[in-house]
Amino acid sequence: MTTTAAQTRTAPAPELLDRFADIVGASNALRDPADMAPHLTEWRDRYFGKAALVLKPGSTDEVARILALANETGTGVVPQGGNTGLVGGQIPFESGHELVVSLARMSRIRAVDPEGNSMTVEAGVPLQMARDTADSVGRLFPLSLASQGSCQIGGNLATNAGGTAVLAYGNARELTLGLEVVLADGRIWRGLRALRKDNTGYDLKDLFIGSEGTLGIITAAVLKLFPKPTETATAFAGLDNPEQASALFTLARQVGGPELTAFELMPRFGLDIVLKHGAQVRDPLEGQHRWYALAELSGHGAPGETAKRLETLLEKALEAGIVADAAVAASLAQAQAFWRLRELLSEVQKLEGGSIKHDVSVPVSGIPKFIARANACVTELVPGCRPLPFGHFGDGNIHYNVSQPVDMERDTFLAEWDRVTAAVHEIVVAFGGSVSAEHGIGRMKRTLLQHVKSDVELGLMQQIKAGFDPNGILNPGKLL
Ligand code: FAD
Repeated sequence: MTTTAAQTRTAPAPELLDRFADIVGASNALRDPADMAPHLTEWRDRYFGKAALVLKPGSTDEVARILALANETGTGVVPQGGNTGLVGGQIPFESGHELVVSLARMSRIRAVDPEGNSMTVEAGVPLQMARDTADSVGRLFPLSLASQGSCQIGGNLATNAGGTAVLAYGNARELTLGLEVVLADGRIWRGLRALRKDNTGYDLKDLFIGSEGTLGIITAAVLKLFPKPTETATAFAGLDNPEQASALFTLARQVGGPELTAFELMPRFGLDIVLKHGAQVRDPLEGQHRWYALAELSGHGAPGETAKRLETLLEKALEAGIVADAAVAASLAQAQAFWRLRELLSEVQKLEGGSIKHDVSVPVSGIPKFIARANACVTELVPGCRPLPFGHFGDGNIHYNVSQPVDMERDTFLAEWDRVTAAVHEIVVAFGGSVSAEHGIGRMKRTLLQHVKSDVELGLMQQIKAGFDPNGILNPGKLL
């Protein structure tokens, strides 16, 4: 096992902790284990960390003073947003020598410019609040994740989050115009520009986006806004196999053009467990189907135009035998009910015992073959396991999850994690795919990164890290 900087660092002395606490004030420096607890474990219960302190700065200046002191004293710092990350990047190591810096108090909307289609928000603004703010001025901030009530803009940018609207609007990187970042030595990069064009050298913001807290702490961002669609039409379609999902996606692209804003896939097993464990859910279709697609068109034309286009799409699909049956949402509430079936998937999977998860992408045209190969492989490795491949079909991003066999002990199944994961990732690589489509590397996939990146790529990444954070204080032992 590699020894990380975090593991070799010594415990900060009590006097040093007091100096850190003084920066944010005693009430924003958590020391009590019960107060710190929510910051030290994560959603999947995979990582349980320890920290010397949890600091909650209220301004960019306070973040700058924390990092200047951390850099001077060689103290490891773990930036944390809403703590919804799925690769353990926001959780400190077990040594208890690191500080968690939570951005939660930095939750101001600094400016909204509907004419310029942008808004400037602090890192601790929850994603839902950013979306609501855009909505309140007649604009759309399209980033949409099932965790949007809890995750924060800083975390979204640090992980380059994806979600369900990437197909039409791109991921977090494509939704960002400018950043304010505190660097490892406490200097502040004030890059809050709202420019659509700016070719003045290296794009620094692109380096920080997706850097998972290893290059700097994002304190604010200028985000892109879009005109709000005047109409949204949503369909839930029953399919026989992923090949039909592929054909339906191609047709939806043809008929819907740029109006196609989401195309998600889930298997019957997924719907079954949502119906079994979820509250206020029902199957939108009468018969049972082996697969389901959730397609959404969003339009800006006259009322009814987009709904008509969705109907045309489904008629063509039914005629061509691509779709076995489909339901179209007749109201916003019904559309939300369709989405709820998709969004509950991660949550209800927990209630089916252990699951081994992969967040992978392959070229969209390769998805059906990828799923077939991965399913055959995992069921051979663990007979009786229940594959649950679902997700952002339109982006080639499949959450290739596998639930435990019903009659197996949870821990016995989870003991197979490395074997199953290695086999699935091997297939992903054979398809020219990525082993982390949207969740990042964090702690969970750090070793894996060494296997899938070339020496040239890894070397460049290490040079960048050394240039931005020569003392290795920022999220040590994560990503690289
Ligand atoms: P955290 O979890 O707190 O942190 C994540 C990483 O970012 C850590 O490495 C942390 O150190 C770093 N970080 C946090 N804030 C900052 C900052 N201000 N500056 C620098 N670094 C920082 N992700 C998707 O991409 N698509 C999905 O569809 C999706 N769906 C999800 C559904 C559920 C139910 C859950 C629980 C998670 C889902 N996620 C998804 C994962 C997660 O929500 C995203 O990764 C999200 O962007 C993390 O934001 P956060 O504020 O919770 O960050």
